[in-house]
Amino acid sequence: MSAWQPEDTDDEASGSPAERKMRFLFALRSHGVTDSRVLSVMEKVDRGRFVKGVFSSRAYDDMPLPISCGQTISQPSVVGLMTQALQVGPRDTVLEIGTGSGYQAAILSALARRVYTVDRWKRLSREAQEIFTAMGLTNVTALARDGSFGLPDQAPFDRILVTAAAEDPPGPLLAQLKPGGIMVLPVGQSDTVQQLIRVRRLPEGFDYEELRPVRFVPLVEGLGNE
Ligand code: SAH
Repeated sequence: MSAWQPEDTDDEASGSPAERKMRFLFALRSHGVTDSRVLSVMEKVDRGRFVKGVFSSRAYDDMPLPISCGQTISQPSVVGLMTQALQVGPRDTVLEIGTGSGYQAAILSALARRVYTVDRWKRLSREAQEIFTAMGLTNVTALARDGSFGLPDQAPFDRILVTAAAEDPPGPLLAQLKPGGIMVLPVGQSDTVQQLIRVRRLPEGFDYEELRPVRFVPLVEGLGNE
């Protein structure tokens, strides 16, 4: 994996690579990311690979940043909390809806057996797949799909992570969750505060748990034109 980016000019992004890394991990811990597997994977997967251009100097700050197609790479601490809430095991097959930059999927790929990630923008899927290949991540596949319908070809899944907000958990995603499976997703209207929820598929039905308020871009139906 590539090195942490060495130099910068402004204050917040300044410091040696080791200092930045320490700040990055401190931000994760102070927001409640305590799972040691999640922390160690986030220490290794270089967020700088997934942020381009003028914002690359901010890659190690705990903030969301703009990416192509008018989308955003999520805040690292939110990525950490969602990954932790998903309780991914080494034998799990995971579906992510909302590839975006590919950062979250790269983290999942280090924890799971197999990861499928879909985005409605072909360009984002293609760019993410290029990064996965360059990083030698062979167990993660990015596909251009409308994730509202899940990924029926590869279903069912042990874990599903949705990184765009729907008003309610989409029915096809609930249906593609294995018994005992877990789905983590933001729900609510796009321009208000949404709730991150965890859904468990139990023998007697679905169990819903509210985790924390979050703010994500909306889950939009249909493929994008890029
Ligand atoms: N997980 C990403 C950030 C996600 S931003 C990362 O690690 O960088 C949310 C993404 O959801 C956007 O890229 C957006 O294009 C995508 N999205 C929105 N609606 C979608 C849909 N119906 N199907 C698939 N992806 C969708």
